Amino acid sequence: MSKLIVANWKMYLSPKNSVELFGAVGKKGEVVICPSFAALNQLSTLAKKSGIGLGAQDCFWTNRGAYTGEISPVDLKEIGCEYVIVGHSERRGYFQETDEMVGKKVKAALATGLIPILCVGENEFERKKGKAATHVVEQLKKTLTGLGKLRAGQEIIIAYEPVWAIGTGKACDPETAVEMHQLIKEKVAELIGVKNVRVLYGGSVNDKNIASYLEYAEIDGALVGGASTKKDIFASLLSIASKF
Ligand code: PEP
Repeated sequence: MSKLIVANWKMYLSPKNSVELFGAVGKKGEVVICPSFAALNQLSTLAKKSGIGLGAQDCFWTNRGAYTGEISPVDLKEIGCEYVIVGHSERRGYFQETDEMVGKKVKAALATGLIPILCVGENEFERKKGKAATHVVEQLKKTLTGLGKLRAGQEIIIAYEPVWAIGTGKACDPETAVEMHQLIKEKVAELIGVKNVRVLYGGSVNDKNIASYLEYAEIDGALVGGASTKKDIFASLLSIASKF
């Protein structure tokens, strides 16, 4: 299977800038772009034409109701999204999203036919204390327990994103990422019966270091934040990734 690159444009780009960047990038390999909510509708038509996947950066766990400001998974589906990031560390950190809330979002996304990209990862303190593996296993257990086995056609992707590596320029060394990916694959198989789930690495990935991750079979692709918002760097990263 080819390597998957998911771009998380966070809140960096306006809808106008998102359309410009999307148009400039072009499809190379398997790519999913997750722009801000405000840009999704405009990018949806472009995504269909280009073959680039479209994802949202979050969703709510219920489809309809009095939830001011929230985004319904069915609405994301209706406007052309296929993927949704859930449990990003910025959501967990700034908005106090718990594993329980993230688990409900995973369930809702799957029920709607979206592919959840579930983010897990330890913080710097947990890594230094030797608790990275325990923390990630705990996150997986709490978010996936109760999900049951996935139905045919349903897919889930996991992003291993050590919090200390996100947006810091301190990328995790590839060998450590591989160990974590192996662990995640084992646990996901155990918890929901998905064998060899796709696991992406995320945290300060750029065009200079992408190859050092993708050369490993355990690393199925990358979730890229900052570097995916810079036209030349992103184009060069995609071109490298498409060769794997
Ligand atoms: C992210 O936002 O998920 C991310 C990995 O960001 P960055 O690539 O900027 O570290």
